[in-house]
Amino acid sequence: MQWFPKTKLGKINLALVIMLLISLGCFLVLVNLHQSGQNLAGTVKKISQDEQEEKQQKNAVKKVHVTTEESPFKGVTYTTEKSKVDRYQLMYPKTGIANVDDAIQKSVYAKRDDFLFGETEKLVMSIKATTSGDYITFILKQKELLINKDVSTTVQVFTYNRKTKKLVDIKDIIKTKERLNRLSKEVRIRLQEKNADASIAAKKIDALTDPKWKNFSTFALDGKNIKFYYQPNTFNDALTSVSVPLASLDKKSDKPVFDLKTNGKKYIALTFDDGPSKKVTPRVLEILRDHNAKATFYMLGQSVQAAPDMAKAVAKDGHEIGNHSYKHDNLSKMTAAQALADITKTNKIIQKAAGHEPLTIRPPYGARNHGLEKQVSQPTVLWSIDTLDWKTLNPVATLGQVKQHAYPGAIVLMHDIHPTTADALDSVLTYLEKQGYEFVTISQLESKQ
Ligand code: ZN
Repeated sequence: MQWFPKTKLGKINLALVIMLLISLGCFLVLVNLHQSGQNLAGTVKKISQDEQEEKQQKNAVKKVHVTTEESPFKGVTYTTEKSKVDRYQLMYPKTGIANVDDAIQKSVYAKRDDFLFGETEKLVMSIKATTSGDYITFILKQKELLINKDVSTTVQVFTYNRKTKKLVDIKDIIKTKERLNRLSKEVRIRLQEKNADASIAAKKIDALTDPKWKNFSTFALDGKNIKFYYQPNTFNDALTSVSVPLASLDKKSDKPVFDLKTNGKKYIALTFDDGPSKKVTPRVLEILRDHNAKATFYMLGQSVQAAPDMAKAVAKDGHEIGNHSYKHDNLSKMTAAQALADITKTNKIIQKAAGHEPLTIRPPYGARNHGLEKQVSQPTVLWSIDTLDWKTLNPVATLGQVKQHAYPGAIVLMHDIHPTTADALDSVLTYLEKQGYEFVTISQLESKQ
């Protein structure tokens, strides 16, 4: 190769030239970096200046963009107030009725102000409306974006009467203390059902369903139902509402179920449905005998036909027998005459096997036939604590439900067809005994009241 130096000195010179070139290169790169660094710093400075100016401008003129749109209801519009700067969007109804609109707007603005002084990132309000007769309910959902990016949803609910042009509260709807008591029980039972995993303390549910007006203030009327809303911090994020049919507040013969007065004594009625079963009922009887406890068995006509000896054994042990229909059909879906035929047939089967007629009726699924109830002398009896033994098939869970929900005067629902229920029974009885309960049959409980 021609250009490569042949002498030692030549080689050294070449090496020096190469090193010089490399150093020069490095120098140029450094200078360049430094300059671009300066540029970067300059940009940052410029942005923060812009931001400050922008903030000052915005503070001077807080732009709130207001729009109005039609609602599904005559004379009612929905107003949206949007502030990009403050990151909120309010939405609320205007009914044209001054006292209603003032109250709603005041409450919405209070929420906005809470947000402005609070620590959440963003607030978006939306409207849902439900109706029932002359009532319109507006459910204002408030979604707030938290700093950790979670979303918290709260609600404000307003119901007004189109005719009287007034906001209504729960007292206007429920009216009597008696109906409030029923409402309390209906809501409680539904919350307990929703709390099947027992993640919420039973005491909390009991306290928040106490028959006090304030416990039922956040309600919506929706067709034939009344729905109660709970804020996420009331129970948990999953349990935010519960719906009760308004008709359930006017049940006629529900005294045994809902009257809880037990003269200071702790009585409790255990009930076993869907039997008798040749396999499970003898085990249940034995355990009850061990604890000297009396219970009530709601039997199916066809199961008694299949095991008449079992019905006889239950009666012989001094337990009470009730009628649970012939083959667990939904009585509420029958005519009164059909339901009566079903119940009468079952009465006769039980009479023949056990020696006396069932004292009360428990309709399958708790589905009542009011026509039937007018024609029979036996009272209808539902329950107040569902152990969910049929669902969990788990003795520990069954005991857990009893521990969570037991109260004096309670009627406990179990089923003597599941071996797991028999497995749970000894621990259930032991627990209740320790709590000072006395076990009574349904008609005994009724007579104590
Ligand atoms: Zn049943």
